[in-house]
Amino acid sequence: MASTAQLTQEQIQAKIAEALRVLKERGLIATCPRCGKNSWRADLLAYFVSVMPVQGVSVPPPHIPTLTLTCNICGSTQLYNLNILGITL
Ligand SMILES: [Zn+2]
Repeated sequence: MASTAQLTQEQIQAKIAEALRVLKERGLIATCPRCGKNSWRADLLAYFVSVMPVQGVSVPPPHIPTLTLTCNICGSTQLYNLNILGITL
């Protein structure tokens, strides 16, 4: 799996657009559950996962490729696992 650091800005924007298309098809883009507005910012992130309390990190932990939707009004943020959406990096 590639990390977002290995993608060009154009490739990142294409993956974001693909993920947003899937979310819209599934009816998951709606008004913000916190403030009721509909103004979102989308970003592609690698969400790091730790299944145990971290005592010390010598290798990068596994991560989930994630689309974040952040409300432009209140900052509420939603995370979507790209693997579940069928989006490969
Ligand atoms: Zn909001």
